Order: sequence, then C-alpha cells, then structure tokens
Amino acid sequence: MRVLLLSDIHSNLEALEACLAAAPAYDKVVNLGDIVGYGANPNEVIERSRQLGKYFVRGNHDKAACGLIELKDFNPVAALAALWTRDQLTTENLEWLRSLPQGPLRIDGLSDAQFVHGSPVDEDEYVVTARDAVEPLMVTPAAVTFFGHTHLQGSFASNDIHLDSDRPTYKTVGQSEGSDFPLKQGLRYLVNPGSVGQPRDGDWRAGFALYDSDTRIVTFCRAPYNVKAAQDRILAANLPQRLATRLAAGR
Ligand code: ZN
Repeated sequence: MRVLLLSDIHSNLEALEACLAAAPAYDKVVNLGDIVGYGANPNEVIERSRQLGKYFVRGNHDKAACGLIELKDFNPVAALAALWTRDQLTTENLEWLRSLPQGPLRIDGLSDAQFVHGSPVDEDEYVVTARDAVEPLMVTPAAVTFFGHTHLQGSFASNDIHLDSDRPTYKTVGQSEGSDFPLKQGLRYLVNPGSVGQPRDGDWRAGFALYDSDTRIVTFCRAPYNVKAAQDRILAANLPQRLATRLAAGR
C-alpha cells in the first residue's frame, strides 16, 4: 500500500494543491494534523483534505481553532491566528475539527505503522532531537510511527542500542523532487513527512512524504508552490505579517 502523508498544512491551500499535483501515485492519504492555523484558507483546506479520505489525527492548532483547548500555551501570533481561524470556520467545519481523533491512529492493511501528531507518548509533545525520540521509540510497539508537529522533515531510528537521526538531502532548491529512504528490518522508526504549509527546516518548498509498505521505502518530497499567493492572502486577512514572511524563508 502506498500512503501519502500530509502534515501541518496550516490553512495553506496553495501548498496543499502543489503537494497533491506533485505527489507520486498513492492508495490512501493520512493527515497528521494541524490542518488549520496560521494560514488564510482554513475552510478550503479542510474541505480539500476531507475529499482525500478519512484518515486524520488532530493537531494542537486544530484543537485551539475549535475551542477544545485554551490558548494560554500559544505564543501571541499563534493565538491570534487561532482566534481568527475560529471566526472564519463554518459551523460544519468547527464540528468536524472537534470530532477529529487523538493519535495513535492505525489503519486497515498497515499492520506495522501508526500515526500521531506529536509523539506516540503525548499528542502535543515535540520530537525535535534524538534525545526527544528516545522514549517514544522505546515504548512504541509499531515498527514505524509517522508524526508531525515540528515541521521538520526527517526520521529517527533505533535498535535499542543505537539511535540515529536522518534528514533527506535534495539536489535543488526550487524544483519538485523526492528523496528515497528505505527502512531497515529490525529497527523502529519515527518518521516526519515535514510540513505542507509552513516548513521550518530552511527549505521553503512544501514538504510531504510517501510510504510504500510493500517496498518499505519512505520517499520524502518537496514541491515548490506559489508562496506569493499564500502570503497575499495572509496579509489581506490582516493576519500577522510574520506569518507571511516566514513562508519565503521556510522558518
Ligand atoms: Zn503545526
């Protein structure tokens, strides 16, 4: 089965459409959360995401936008964007966000994989460093856990003795391209497909991944998109300017 992994779209419709246009062939889509927040097209991104299938886990921004959590842990820019998003959302989309499941999510036909927003231990935890990955890799029963939340594309792998981290390398800075990462037998993995709508690894291109469970190859992908259009919408919505400028830097 070929699974298209989308995470942290953050209401960026241009980036989402670019990923879908650039994606290799896939059978199913799994969305790792933070569908909304930051960007200017929350309703359109929810509706497009729902057309792609039924597999979702909720992100912290999804919870904030639909009022499931308070905003006290959000920085001022994120909180402002969450409140703006709440105002924009249709009643149906608010209800849909409230109904999203907490991970870990499993899907039929994929016995070795699970899906979370932050970590299999805590849906809101950030797995940024190898040290952050130790506990989740130790306690998780799944051979591979796909996660998001950090907006950093890459992976951690452990065999109980060693823990390695890996980032995809790309040949260009502006083209659509993929980078294959074959999973090895006997290791447990945490794999982050990157952020569709607000990458923070210094690469402005939309990030996503494809997992082929037959070959056990993860293909990390980047797709260029119309950043200017996404920025213009953010500015036209009177969202904080920083949310527009950061898209061009991928930070
Ligand atoms: Zn996010």
